[in-house]
Amino acid sequence: MKIGSVLVVGAGPAGLTAAYELVKKGVQPIVLEQSDKVGGISRTETYKGYHFDIGGHRFYTKVAEVQQLWDEVLGDEFIKTPRLSRIYYQGKFFQYPLSAFDTLYKLGIYESLLILLSYFKVKQQPLPVEDNLEQWVTNRFGVRLYQTFFKTYTEKVWGIPCNQIQAEWAAQRIKGLSLKKAITNALFGSNDTKTLIKEFNYPLLGPGMMWQRFAEKVETGGGEVHLNTRVLGLEHNNRRITKVIAQQGDNILQFEAEHFISSMPLTTLINRLDPAPPSKVLDAANQLKYRDFLIVSLIIDARDLFPDNWIYIHSPGVKVGRIQNFKNWSPAMVPDARKTCLGMEYFCNAGDSLWEMSNAELIELAKQELGILGLAKGKVVEDGVVIRQPKAYPVYDHEYRQHLGVIQTYLQKFENLQTTGRNGMHRYNNQDHSMLTGLLAAKNILGEKHDLWEVNTERSYHEEFTTKPKSEDLIVLK
Ligand SMILES: Cc1cc2nc3c(=O)[nH]c(=O)nc-3n(C[C@H](O)[C@H](O)[C@H](O)COP(=O)(O)OP(=O)(O)OC[C@H]3O[C@@H](n4cnc5c(N)ncnc54)[C@H](O)[C@@H]3O)c2cc1C
Repeated sequence: MKIGSVLVVGAGPAGLTAAYELVKKGVQPIVLEQSDKVGGISRTETYKGYHFDIGGHRFYTKVAEVQQLWDEVLGDEFIKTPRLSRIYYQGKFFQYPLSAFDTLYKLGIYESLLILLSYFKVKQQPLPVEDNLEQWVTNRFGVRLYQTFFKTYTEKVWGIPCNQIQAEWAAQRIKGLSLKKAITNALFGSNDTKTLIKEFNYPLLGPGMMWQRFAEKVETGGGEVHLNTRVLGLEHNNRRITKVIAQQGDNILQFEAEHFISSMPLTTLINRLDPAPPSKVLDAANQLKYRDFLIVSLIIDARDLFPDNWIYIHSPGVKVGRIQNFKNWSPAMVPDARKTCLGMEYFCNAGDSLWEMSNAELIELAKQELGILGLAKGKVVEDGVVIRQPKAYPVYDHEYRQHLGVIQTYLQKFENLQTTGRNGMHRYNNQDHSMLTGLLAAKNILGEKHDLWEVNTERSYHEEFTTKPKSEDLIVLK
């Protein structure tokens, strides 16, 4: 079969995986990326030799094809990182995943009894409906544990009350766990290999290194990766995309191709189609919501501050949601072993008061909050840098499914356009599932037949995840 030319929008995990699969099969795609580096949300930023992620990016998957790709592309530079992450709540550090002894001890016997009583109560009288996250979690863990461990952090992350977040999100992310199981495992041990995982894979110099290598392999195979090239428009004749218009510096470029793969956010894609879609479709796209994110990386004159890779900050008294310690991901992330680089993560909405603060104010806020938390007592914060990430999280509010349905139905009419990835499908995908959609999109072009919308719901979660539940996903928000 003769495969025509392929154009890929976005050099994040989805776009680069699609491109890499294509070059392996002798097709040379063109990848257009608006940013000055590859990796998308999974890129690595650098500042004065310090490397840091947009949040910490674990490489963990149950999808064999994806693991195989990671190993094949990075080889020896794909290191094993020991894992430790704890929850900070009411001035105390709690083991994570939840340990019954640790939790009982730190919450005290009185609070622990209340948690157990509320758990047994909900088991006797579950809430009749489970439409939202609050109801879903309460029915599985009881109202008390929900309020203690889930509510404050989850609302900090999403910026909306838990009763406005779809239960579907929880079903995807918290599946397979129960308080009973967490306690039994803690008391009697567990045979579930998944709960025993104490390390994960990580590229020596952060996730961007993986995506840099993917891009190099695409180019070695004859493909092209154009950085600083923003897609402005996708022209179509109602059935097929005919041309992509992109801006590179002061130049406007045009690309024609047989097949198109997009990993840009659905909202952007729909708004850039020319002719414009019907207003119903535009409205649906414009109503999809995103949560934005910024990280303040602080360089501290301290060799060792704490042993965790990251800490969840559940305390409502500070705005910081999570703190990464990049040295504990890979020592090579920090150029001077006498220093530490902490990534203070703030969840926000573009345009809100946090987002609008100047970089100097944000660095000051991060320093102050570090002081309140007491995580760098007596140590000097020498420098800091701020990175903002718009559209970090697709939001699953109570309307998103309906909007997504309208968009999906409309996009189906295009014979030669596939949307992939996290924001490209408005799916709360980690790298592995974003990659899987890219991989399958490439395979479709190569003659196979896959429904990308089945990834996550069908393939990953039903086939793979239900058999081995991800206990560490209890409240992990990636
Ligand atoms: C804080 C945080 C922590 C995370 N932690 C983990 C983790 O531990 N493990 C994990 O596996 N995953 C993690 N993820 C998820 C991971 O970042 C995403 O799943 C992954 O990056 C999605 O890949 P993608 O290619 O679909 O999209 P993206 O990474 O968003 O890439 C899309 C690319 O398209 C480009 N683009 C957009 N518009 C245009 C345009 N008009 N023209 C040209 N290019 C365009 C963008 O610049 C971007 O490079 C985390 C995410 C966040 C926010």
